Amino acid sequence: MLDYLNDISENYMKDKSFKPNNRLLMGPGPSNVHPKVLKALARPTIGHLDPQFIDLMDDIKSLLKYAFQTENEVTFAVSGPGSVGMETCLVNLIEPGDKVVVCINGVFGGRMKDIIERCGATPFEVTAPWGSAIDPSELENKLSQHEDASIVAFVHAETSTGAKSDIKTLAEIAHKYDCLTIADTVTSLGGIPLLIDDWNIDCSYSGTQKCLSCPPGLSPITFNERAVNLIKNRKSKVQSWFMDLNLVLGYWGSGTKRAYHHTAPINSLYGLHEALLLLKQEGLEQAWERHQSNGQKLVNELGAIGILPYVKADERLPELTSVAVPAGVDEADVRKQLLEKHNIEIGAGLGDLAGKIWRIGFMGYTSNEENIDTFVSAIRGILENK
Ligand SMILES: *Cc1c(COP(=O)(O)O)cnc(C)c1O
Repeated sequence: MLDYLNDISENYMKDKSFKPNNRLLMGPGPSNVHPKVLKALARPTIGHLDPQFIDLMDDIKSLLKYAFQTENEVTFAVSGPGSVGMETCLVNLIEPGDKVVVCINGVFGGRMKDIIERCGATPFEVTAPWGSAIDPSELENKLSQHEDASIVAFVHAETSTGAKSDIKTLAEIAHKYDCLTIADTVTSLGGIPLLIDDWNIDCSYSGTQKCLSCPPGLSPITFNERAVNLIKNRKSKVQSWFMDLNLVLGYWGSGTKRAYHHTAPINSLYGLHEALLLLKQEGLEQAWERHQSNGQKLVNELGAIGILPYVKADERLPELTSVAVPAGVDEADVRKQLLEKHNIEIGAGLGDLAGKIWRIGFMGYTSNEENIDTFVSAIRGILENK
C-alpha cells in the first residue's frame, strides 16, 4: 500500500494521464472544439452561487437569445446533453392524456415519440422516408384528422440522415390548428438560419457539440410566453424533478433570488460562454454562410471523385452531408483507415441506412476549407489504394 502511495509521483501521472489523439471530428457530433473554448474550460472553478458566476449565467442567457434569435425571457442552458434538452421540453409541456403530433424522418423524431409515450400522451406520427424532409401537407392531413391534438414536435436538422425540414412552414400549419410547437434545433443552432421568434417556434432545445464549437454536455433551450403559461397551468406535476422548469427557474430565472437547485456544471458553462462569444464575434449570418459554402464545397469536391450526396439539394444540410457509399466499397474499413491513418472521424449510416451512407459533419470549428482539403485527399487516397 505504502509503496503504491510512494509511486504517486510526477512520473506516475505522466504515464497514467489520459492523452487523446488530436482527431479531426467530421462525424455527426461532437465536432472539434475551438482552442479558446478548451482554454476557458480550464479556468478556476468558482461556486455556482458566486455573484461572478450569476453574472456569467446572465451573459450566457443573453448570448443564447442572440444565437436563437429570440426575445424569450426563458432562454438558458440545461445541464445535460441535447437529449436532456429534448426530454425537458417534452416532460414540461406534455401531460398524461395529451395528443401530440410528432414528425419522424430519422432517429431523433423517433426518440421524441418514445418520450411522448413515456409522458402518458398519445403520439400521432407524420413520417417521411429517411433522407427526406417532412412534407408540410402530410402534417396538415394529420392535424385535420386529429383536431384535438395540442402539440406538434419536429426536428429541424435530422443529423441521422442529413435532411433539413422547413420548420417555419411546419410551425405555421401547427398554429393554424392551435397547436404549440417544439423544435429540435440541436444541429441547426449556429449552423443554418434559425429564427425562433420570426418563425413562431414556441419551444426549442439544442446542443453544444454540433455547430457551436463546444464540447457535449449542455443543452441550450428556449420557451416563449405561451409555452411558459402552459407549464404554469399544468393540471399534474411534471414527472421529472430534475427537469421541472418551475423548479429549475428558481436557479436560472431572472428577477428571483437565485437558489440552489442542482450544482451547475460550472466549467462547462465557461466553455459555452466562450463559444457563444466566438459566435457573436463572427456574426450569426457569417457562421451560417461559412457552413453553407463549406458544405457546398465538400459536395463539389466529393462529386469530382464519384462520391455523391444522398439527400436532394434543396433538403440537404450543409453542416451534415450524407453520401452514398460507392458500390463495392467496404464502408467500415474506409472509416477505420480514416481514423487510424489520418486521425479523421466520420459517421456511419444508422437504421435502414447502415452500410449505405457515410455521414460527414462540417460543424462549428471543424467547418473550414483546409479541413475539406485534408478530408478529400485522405478519402481519395484510401479509395484509390483499394
Ligand atoms: C445529437 C442530436 C441530439 C441528441 O443530442 P445529445 O447531445 O447526443 O444527447 C438530438 N437531436 C439531434 C437532431 C441531434 O443531432
